[in-house]
Amino acid sequence: MLSGAALSRFRKNLMGWFAEYQRDLPWRRTRDPYRVWLSEIMLQQTRVAAAIPYYERFLERFPGVEALARAPQEEVLRLWAGLGYYSRARNLAEAAQEIVAKHNGVFPSEPADALALPGIGAYTAAAILSIVYQKKLAVLDGNVARVIARLYAVRGDLRANGTWQKLQATAGHLLAGRSPGDWNQAMMELGATLCTPRSPQCLLCPVSEFCEARKQGLTDLIPVKRSKRSTVELTLASLVLLDPRGQTLLLAPPAPARKSAAANDVHTLVSRMWHFPSVAVLQGQAAEALRKFAEESLFRGRGFRLEFFALKKVRHAVTFRAITIFPFRARVAKLPRVSASKAFPLADLSTVAVSNLTRKVARAALALN
Ligand code: SF4
Repeated sequence: MLSGAALSRFRKNLMGWFAEYQRDLPWRRTRDPYRVWLSEIMLQQTRVAAAIPYYERFLERFPGVEALARAPQEEVLRLWAGLGYYSRARNLAEAAQEIVAKHNGVFPSEPADALALPGIGAYTAAAILSIVYQKKLAVLDGNVARVIARLYAVRGDLRANGTWQKLQATAGHLLAGRSPGDWNQAMMELGATLCTPRSPQCLLCPVSEFCEARKQGLTDLIPVKRSKRSTVELTLASLVLLDPRGQTLLLAPPAPARKSAAANDVHTLVSRMWHFPSVAVLQGQAAEALRKFAEESLFRGRGFRLEFFALKKVRHAVTFRAITIFPFRARVAKLPRVSASKAFPLADLSTVAVSNLTRKVARAALALN
């Protein structure tokens, strides 16, 4: 464990490098709790470049926590559409309401209060509270864990029982007490830009003299690759109905209380957002199964005689699921009246909260024109 003069030099080197080379990111120009919180949530599972336009659009529409708390969840999801992992947006909206109701509209500064909010775990709480309130809490995410594992040549699965806790303790030991927020960001920046999973740029690294993995020639072997959860292949058939005005029918997301944990549940696959009428099918039976579904659930036997045009197959991946969608387009004189459904212009779904999967199906349908 680094200590004394070596620890001081380590901190000085890293902070000096961060001060000079940190990327200019919109959320780094502020210590406003709401903005820092929003950025931390958006950056979970999302690349910086992808998050920036969403962050800016979100702030334009919801400049503060009160505006977010007042907004219907549907509107929050619409602005989040395309960013993925939609539970983040749902939790954000709920947490905003709690912050207004219980914390006078300000993100709480105490760890226990922060952790009680929807969508806030240990990492996110440490990041927000250290940056905004200078709390001495060390962050440990994948980037920081990789840096520490290499510095100390930690072998084995970093997420294994006990190892993650030791990494957390080491992160706490290294934490520079005077500016914990900057320190945490510096560690994350090092992992994101130089100490990358593949081909770390050790020649540019400000702390290379302290790195055991580098000394032992192990940088490509640490951390060990985790065995990936095997991919589950799923197949859906989706129906794009089109009336003479270019309107299509989308079905509403299920009510929040509905639990739909099954891996092949259609609502799970469309991220519990507005979606085309869809059904899980077996390969080779898409048209037949969709026709039966449409007849029973949408048209209920009323003169059902639609001609289905097969559209280009769509592929979509969500975490461990690889989804193949067989979309079909059918022209109708009038869209059916179905509860929990609404007509939208197929060419512009920007007014409704839809997932990327639904956008891809819409694009496939438009490509037929
Ligand atoms: S020397 Fe290389 S492996 Fe070690 S911390 Fe720096 S970038 Fe990472």
